[in-house]
Parts: sequence; C-alpha cells; structure tokens
Amino acid sequence: MHKFTTSSGKCLWYDVTNNRISLYSKESEEKALPVVHFNQPAIIDGSKITMFTIEMTQQCNLRCSYCCYSGKYRDRRQHNEKEISYDTLRDVVEFIEKHADKDAAEITVCFYGGEALLARKKIEWLIEGLNTIYGERTRFSLSTNGLALTENIIDWIASFDNFLVNVTIDGNKMMHDRCRKTIAGKGSYDMIVRNLEVFKKNIPMFLIKE
Ligand code: SF4
Repeated sequence: MHKFTTSSGKCLWYDVTNNRISLYSKESEEKALPVVHFNQPAIIDGSKITMFTIEMTQQCNLRCSYCCYSGKYRDRRQHNEKEISYDTLRDVVEFIEKHADKDAAEITVCFYGGEALLARKKIEWLIEGLNTIYGERTRFSLSTNGLALTENIIDWIASFDNFLVNVTIDGNKMMHDRCRKTIAGKGSYDMIVRNLEVFKKNIPMFLIKE
C-alpha cells in the first residue's frame, strides 16, 4: 500500500495489483475496502491494433514547468539525449506488421517525445518504411510544441496528404510564457506563433484552430 498526499493535504492510499489501481480513504484503508477502481480492459486483442505511438526521443527543446519529464515527478524520467535507434525502429516496423489490424481501413502511427521533431530523420525513415508496406492505409500524427516547425519542416509535412500535426499552446501569450520556456529560459509563444503563421501561409487549408 502506498501513500499519496494531494495538494490540499488530503491523504490517499493506493495499491496496484493485477492491472488494477485501488484508491483507499484513510477510514476504509483500516477496513481494507477500496473506494475507487480503475480497471484495464480484460482482453486486449494483439492482432487488432489500429494506432501505434512511438517515442522518438526523450529530449525536448522546451522546459515547461509542469512537464512530467521535468524531474519533479516521482518515478518519471527526465529530459535526456536518448533517441530511438534504427535497430529499434526496424523492430517497430516488424511489430506493427505483426500486430496491425489487417482489416482496418486505416493504421495510425503517432510520433511522440519529448519533442518528436528533434528526431525528424528517423521519422522520415519510419514513414518511408510504413508507406511501402501500407500505402494509402497509413496515417501519421505528430504531437509537437511547434518550436521546431521551420519552413523546411512545414514544406516536408505538406508533401504528405496523410499527416496530422497537433501543436500545443497554453492559452494566450502571458499564460503560455509563464510555463512554456525554452532551454535558455525565454518564453516560447512568439516563436511558435511565428511558425504557425508560416504554416498557415504555406498550407492554409490544413490549419484548424481549437
Ligand atoms: S513541450 Fe512537452 S515534452 Fe517538452 S517540456 Fe513541454 S510538456 Fe515537456
């Protein structure tokens, strides 16, 4: 049983067994009665997967104050120079070939980091390999903080018609810059918005705001 203290000072106890996380209040802990359960699906069909997420790099070009990889969180890695190797990428292709749903109309591969664009060459390598296998059935999705969206990369993205780009921004400039700083400690809002302006100019039909 592990103890967890919330920001308001409330204590919870949790236990992880058999893919189940059980939360206990202090009172029910004494009675050993779980108050909340989070259950994973009982059966996962390993041959029916339609979405794969690949961590391309553990490095990032921002240092957001709340980042789960900032080093402030227990049992979480910190930003570092590790990048997926070509050997592992070959295993990834093999894994996807083995487990992707053969009947699915689309197979989606998401690039994740850190900042996935820092491993752009390897993203290109993977896209080429998967497009050869799946052709038009493949969809690619990239989560990025937008800082590395240079004109060159935007043109590269525009050369695909199966590439979704998710750019994360925290509200307005003041809110964003308070938490989302570069490694040098500067606010990143203006640089990201400038990149998005180029994105809009080069491929306007693809820009959706939320
Ligand atoms: S952009 Fe994402 S990965 Fe990078 S520091 Fe911010 S929250 Fe962390």
